[in-house]
Amino acid sequence: MNIAHRQFDTLIIGAGGGGLRAALQLSQADAHVAVVSKVFPTRSHTVAAQGGVNAALANVRPDNWHWHMFDTVKGSDYLGDQDAIEYMCRAAPKAVYELEHYGVPFSRQDDGRIYQRQFGGQSMNFGGEQAARTCAAADRTGHAILHSLYQQNIRARTHFFDEYFAVDLLNDADGQALGALVLDIATGELLVIEAKTTLIATGGAGQIFRTNTNALINTGDGMAMSLRAGVPLQDMEFFQFHPTGIAGKGMLLSEGARGEGGYLVNSEGERFMERYAPHAKDLASRDVVSRAIVTEVREGRGCGPGKDHVLLTLTHLDPDMIKKRLPAIRDMALTFAGVDMCDTPVPVFPTAHYTMGGIPTNRFGEVVAPIDHGPEEAIPGLYAAGECACVSVHGGNRLGGNSLLDIIVFGRAAGNQIIDFLNENKYHRPMRDEVVEPVLERLARWDKQGDGESVDAMRSELTRTMEEHCGVFRTEDVLKEGVDRVQALAARMPDVRLRDHSRVFNTARIEALELENLMDVAIATIMSAWKRHESRGAHSRVDYPERDDVNWLRHSLYHKQDNSIDYKPVRTKPLTVDSFPPKPRTY
Ligand SMILES: Cc1cc2nc3c(=O)[nH]c(=O)nc-3n(C[C@H](O)[C@H](O)[C@H](O)COP(=O)(O)OP(=O)(O)OC[C@H]3O[C@@H](n4cnc5c(N)ncnc54)[C@H](O)[C@@H]3O)c2cc1C
Repeated sequence: MNIAHRQFDTLIIGAGGGGLRAALQLSQADAHVAVVSKVFPTRSHTVAAQGGVNAALANVRPDNWHWHMFDTVKGSDYLGDQDAIEYMCRAAPKAVYELEHYGVPFSRQDDGRIYQRQFGGQSMNFGGEQAARTCAAADRTGHAILHSLYQQNIRARTHFFDEYFAVDLLNDADGQALGALVLDIATGELLVIEAKTTLIATGGAGQIFRTNTNALINTGDGMAMSLRAGVPLQDMEFFQFHPTGIAGKGMLLSEGARGEGGYLVNSEGERFMERYAPHAKDLASRDVVSRAIVTEVREGRGCGPGKDHVLLTLTHLDPDMIKKRLPAIRDMALTFAGVDMCDTPVPVFPTAHYTMGGIPTNRFGEVVAPIDHGPEEAIPGLYAAGECACVSVHGGNRLGGNSLLDIIVFGRAAGNQIIDFLNENKYHRPMRDEVVEPVLERLARWDKQGDGESVDAMRSELTRTMEEHCGVFRTEDVLKEGVDRVQALAARMPDVRLRDHSRVFNTARIEALELENLMDVAIATIMSAWKRHESRGAHSRVDYPERDDVNWLRHSLYHKQDNSIDYKPVRTKPLTVDSFPPKPRTY
């Protein structure tokens, strides 16, 4: 088959904040960079981030990076790697000022400095009073960041392949990354992008769950590509459910709503978080608040005719403040819940939000993994950054505002690491046909119609199964049944029926490829959840209710080829300060 080839120093798959921050670092250093994105770059999910980005600027209350580090380690339920967490928290102020200089219009205080709001899990003095650490551009922070980074990349002459779908990574026999096979969505034409280095920045996989806050495109493609290339996925059992999704719909109402003074009430009008987290109340960590809401509903104190949600109330706050600081969230509640939160509480329930696990990397963005259960090693030329990666700074539970920080800090770090690699590796390695052929074979399966269920039907069955069997509270029987169901679904994939070829051939083929990716990521998630016999962070096992630091203070690594899981120790040693040893986690 005659396929066009293009050559670049670096291929970046994904144009969200993570991909674009790395691309900017590289283009400004005169590297020849290709960014591939299946949607126009500024439609990446980063655009939807509302609440803000954390950095200990101390503009509103006293703060420093060491307190931020403590909160992040505690928030992770001690599963985060402390070297990476120290690096991120120390780099945060500089990363935010860089964004400011790129043009992000942060909200200001009267004295002109960047405004900072309170977010969950933030404290002063290692667990003391509530801190205010989240820098925001009203409630459109991700929008402002993504557009600024895109414009800076245009100025730096980054080369964009807009609306190209990356099908699979291309690696040579000794494992080195050589680029990827991509597909022009408009024409269906294939292109081999040869690159000395490849960075995966494809974002999260919230679409494995039916009710979620994510964009429809968040199908975990990069994670699935890595699995197929033999790279295991780390800590996939840790999936964050955000406490305040619009009930029954799933769209996010940012934690900023509680940060500005909103709180949750049950059917008895009780501010119930005071019982679950007497100190932090509604600004406890997300896993804690989500479990509290589900418990209230299960115990019969839910609101509405179905008693199936609780209420988020902001009616005691100044409507002008709401309109100034939370305009998009107010619009969202108006459109999707039909209520104006200035005068009416909004029905909310936890919704799938964030993939804590992902492609294992070190703090330089290098993919580091035990290929085929061998020793752990960096894969030459392969990098990952952003929500698809697991550095791991979020461990068992991510704090709000730490993900935008993660993509900016580690996007930049990966860019710098790639520049060093390019300085030492000047030439392209040969791309032989044998490297591309297996990918073409996989793709060829979707050139013909199957006679089984439709892609749509399979996708909804998958997401419903994940919601029912791998949700906020988990037990052995329910998980095991979920594993069997998802595996049975995956076995039916070869017969799946595409939409009518003649009219929508390419998009139909892409829907099928995305479904394949969702299956792989869903299996990794539910298998890892089934095998972890403890409760830590967002992974809450009713049958193993305690955290077990003796047996389980370790990361999981799920391998696709033999459906098995390895474990590796948490890096508890920070770079310069003392470790934070595990303690009971109360808020
Ligand atoms: C509604 C919402 C609100 C949030 N609010 C906050 C917040 O206030 N603060 C915070 O810190 N975090 C927040 N988060 C989390 C944070 O926004 C994300 O974790 C982060 O933006 C992810 O960035 P990313 O660069 O990794 O990926 P994304 O922004 O998701 O970008 C992924 C990119 O990969 C591309 N891609 C994927 N697959 C393929 C493929 N096969 N081929 C080609 N391209 C591909 C996509 O086109 C896209 O360009 C929020 C998340 C959501 C969903």
